[in-house]
This record gives sequence, C-alpha cells and structure tokens, in this order.
Amino acid sequence: MQDSPIGTRIDFNADGVQHGHLKLPYSRDDSAWGAIMIPITVVGNGPGPTALLTGANHGDEYEGPLALCKLAATLDAEQIRGRVIIVPFMNHPALKAGRRTSPIDGGNLNRMFPGRPDGTPTEKIADYFQRYLLPMADVVVDIHSGGRTLEFIPFAAAHLLKDKAQEARCMAAMHAFAAPWSLIMLEIDAIGLYDTAAEALGKTFVTTELGGGGGTSPETIGIAERGVRNVLIHESILQAQPEQANTRLLGMPDDRCYLSAEHDGLLEPCVGLGCEVRAGEVVARIYSTARTGIKPVEYPASIDGVLLARHHPGLIQMGDTLAVIGVPT
Ligand code: ZN
Repeated sequence: MQDSPIGTRIDFNADGVQHGHLKLPYSRDDSAWGAIMIPITVVGNGPGPTALLTGANHGDEYEGPLALCKLAATLDAEQIRGRVIIVPFMNHPALKAGRRTSPIDGGNLNRMFPGRPDGTPTEKIADYFQRYLLPMADVVVDIHSGGRTLEFIPFAAAHLLKDKAQEARCMAAMHAFAAPWSLIMLEIDAIGLYDTAAEALGKTFVTTELGGGGGTSPETIGIAERGVRNVLIHESILQAQPEQANTRLLGMPDDRCYLSAEHDGLLEPCVGLGCEVRAGEVVARIYSTARTGIKPVEYPASIDGVLLARHHPGLIQMGDTLAVIGVPT
C-alpha cells in the first residue's frame, strides 16, 4: 500500500518533549498548497511501553481535547518511562467546526477505519492512525462524550473480546481509569470503529463517554484528566500514585439495552441519567408537533437497569437512539 500523505517533523524515537503537527496536504480554493495541521505531542524517556491518547475523534466532544491539551502542556519526560503520544484533536477539521463529522468530506472518523491513504481527508487521517500510530502503541485511550445529540453518565468502557487475555488487560485499564461508572460495552455499530482497529491489533484499549450535549463541565473534564493519569500509572508509564475513586460496573447483555425512536416529535425525558429503571417503566414520551389533543407515544424500558444515555436535543427523529440502559453486574 502507498505511504500516507501525512508527514511530521516529530521524531517518535527521540527522548524529551516534542510539540508538533501531523501535516495533511489539502489543496482548496482558499489555499492552493494548503494543509490540515493536526497538533501532536510526543513525550519520550527511554525504553518502556507506549501510550496513545486521543480526543476529538468526534469534533463536538470536548473532555478529551481539554484534558489532553492540559496534559500535553505539563507532562515532563522525567515523570515517565517509555513514551506518551498525545493527539487531542484527531479529526481537527471537525473540532474546528464544532461538529461530529468533518465539514470537508462529511467524514465520521470513528466509522472510517482502516481508512485509505488515497481517500478523503478523513480517510487519510484514519489510515495514518491505523498504519503508523496504532502499531507504536501498547495502550490506547480514546476519550469520547455524547456530542450535541447524546448525554451519558460518565463512564470508561471496554469490550468483550475473543482473546480473553487481551480482554482482561482492557478491563483492568478501564477499572484503572476510575470513572464514576465502568461499562462492558455492546456496540450498536462496531464496523469502522477506531476501537475495533486498535483491538484487532492486540492493543489494550479503553474508550469513554464522559458527558455530552455538545458542552462540558468541570466535573467531566476532571474525570478525563484523572482517568488518563491513572491509566498511565497503571501501565507503569507515569511514576505516581493513582487517584482512587469508586466506580460502578454496568454490562449490556443484549440489544434490549438500546431504545430507538419510532416517531418524530418533542421528547419528554421521564427518567434521570444514572437513575434505576424497571422493565415496563416509561423512559420517555414523544409528542406530535403536528397537532394538539392526541396522546404522546410512550417508550417503556425493555430491561431492568440504569439509564446510562439519552437523546439530548428537545426534538427527536424516528431512528434516533432515545435511551440506553446498562445492567449492574
Ligand atoms: Zn464520540
């Protein structure tokens, strides 16, 4: 396969702190020989494991970008053993636009793996992570939150994997992150995910959902900062004491955990995030915006558990994920 068009002046094998860019040539009307410049920090200190830390895989999720900017500005080489690669704004064009997907090509980076070196800009970014950055990593932490259309209880997550030793490494790193909640996650759509790409390469992988609604809060930024540091300590990269915190474990036994809207309309949430629900209990109602005097459609839970996510905007469309329920394990 051809080389990536992305270049960098970073020397991934050098010790010390380097701040630079991944430079993706992007010729366009307002810059004939222009480029997308994706900031990157690499901190190295001798032999040891490599952590790859990423935010803004989706451009409207801000805990990862903030926590990783702060880490990149403060992490010293003397504090670590091995290497830390920090990319706070993976899909930089999407971040700058405040959108989930790239305004250039509509690309949803987290559905485009393994990407293509000769594809769209978003496919080229995916390809660079797939063939250049992921192979360098031992542990990968990708920080998501709900973006403009979803809200989550703050959790770190790992997946059930065929390789049980790898699964155990991922679960241990998820617990080390010490978010208020930990989730053994059943993906609705695993094809093309960065998660799937990292796991297929045998990496220890942790993802998160730390809030949502297209904004952020001191609490969720703090959870991201603490979690990243705790994983680096857990992997023996950062020499420090982990910050302990209680985490409650949830599982997702099957697709009864996902509730989808089958109507368009006004959404009335009936259960708070993090609250317990029983099968049959109404989680939300959808009201017609076309006429008054008709009953709303009620959406009951189909499994006992805890409300871990819900649709954020006041309007909902048929097909939207309305709510997600996790089951305490
Ligand atoms: Zn995301």
